[in-house]
Amino acid sequence: MDNLKVVIIGAGMGGLATGIALRQAGYEVEIYDKVSELRPAGAGISLWSNGVKVLNRLGLGKEIASIGGKMERIAYYSNTGEKLTDFSLSPLVEQVGQRPYPVSRTDLQQMLLDAFGTENVQLNSKCVAVEQDANSVTAIFEDGHKATGDVLIGADGTHSTVRRYLLGYASERRYVGYVNWNGLVPISDDLAPKDSWVIYVGEHKRASMMPVGGDRFYFFFDVPLPKGTVSEPEQRREELAGFFKGWAEPVQTLIQRLDPLKTNRVEIHDIEPLEKLAQGRVALLGDAGHSTAPDLGQGGCQAMEDALVLANCLLTTNLSVEDALKRYEAARKERTAQVILGARKRSDMTHGKDPEKTQQWYSALKDEDGSDIIAAISKTILAGPLH
Ligand SMILES: Cc1cc2nc3c(=O)[nH]c(=O)nc-3n(C[C@H](O)[C@H](O)[C@H](O)COP(=O)(O)OP(=O)(O)OC[C@H]3O[C@@H](n4cnc5c(N)ncnc54)[C@H](O)[C@@H]3O)c2cc1C
Repeated sequence: MDNLKVVIIGAGMGGLATGIALRQAGYEVEIYDKVSELRPAGAGISLWSNGVKVLNRLGLGKEIASIGGKMERIAYYSNTGEKLTDFSLSPLVEQVGQRPYPVSRTDLQQMLLDAFGTENVQLNSKCVAVEQDANSVTAIFEDGHKATGDVLIGADGTHSTVRRYLLGYASERRYVGYVNWNGLVPISDDLAPKDSWVIYVGEHKRASMMPVGGDRFYFFFDVPLPKGTVSEPEQRREELAGFFKGWAEPVQTLIQRLDPLKTNRVEIHDIEPLEKLAQGRVALLGDAGHSTAPDLGQGGCQAMEDALVLANCLLTTNLSVEDALKRYEAARKERTAQVILGARKRSDMTHGKDPEKTQQWYSALKDEDGSDIIAAISKTILAGPLH
């Protein structure tokens, strides 16, 4: 179909990647976001090869490579510092045809904004309602202004307003069962090798560092906790020091080196796979359509895949907008549901839902030469649209 005007709600990585893809398809695109300044939540993200391939396809290959960390290896250690396994990621790159890039979220957001054009994103525009008829669809914003187009994409994240409109009810987010702390620290040999993603595991918790561009490690900590625990940012260091007491030296050094005020603390949620991702002229994309726990590192990558598939469905079919969006839904529903359920399963295994299974996983890591882990990552990547 040609000559479409597309209204996108949300200028996160999903909305921006979609804006770029649809603009390249020749469509008129307007993106609206509720914030007054775009500042991504969270510090870093591992963009696995399926996400990177979409960026390559959008002509952003050089840009993502320039902000990405050079992650060559994965190493697991026990909480006390015993090396469990350490292997090269080269076989993965050979299998899937593209290396992954861990990146800082701010760099990724800026890269996408530069490609789309900051001037084309309307801020201070909180979408509160959506209306559609046979000929058009309209977003209504809190201050009363409206944006009308042929297609409306809800890329408005895990608390999506467009999702509520599309489903007709508010889908509950589900607490996965653990709290995640994350941030950035300068790269340093006394923390981890600068080419490795290092993960310390024990007591159903994790402490991890991976290299992102700009000579920094993106770090995260996970601790299973009941829902609703809180702490002030000033207490982050003491809180982590308590949870990771007795863990290996690099973990202690990391806790001392992080900036407590710039360390995020998030209760991890997902949503049940939705029965639909499209309704008439409206479609959901990214976390709005399929919020997942980060245990496969796939939420953002799935938003990138959505962007490409959506652009292809609109561009390559010509029955109607409604029909193209149903094709998008058909192409994405099962794939994204599998990621949600797979991440949930992995989260349960690593965070001690059944302590015996977590213990078995710790033991299996000692016998791991990398091939099982690489096979699992590769399978997830190759199940995407660009295999
Ligand atoms: C701890 C953690 C680690 C993660 N690690 C990874 C990883 O390693 N790899 C990976 O691929 N993914 C990872 N993810 C998932 C990833 O962060 C998300 O999947 C991704 O940010 C989704 O992008 P999005 O554009 O759909 O939503 P968002 O990035 O949430 O963007 C939504 C945008 O919509 C705007 N908005 C919201 N409501 C409205 C409204 N009513 N009107 C207008 N604008 C609105 C918001 O301001 C925001 O800018 C992780 C997530 C977490 C929590």
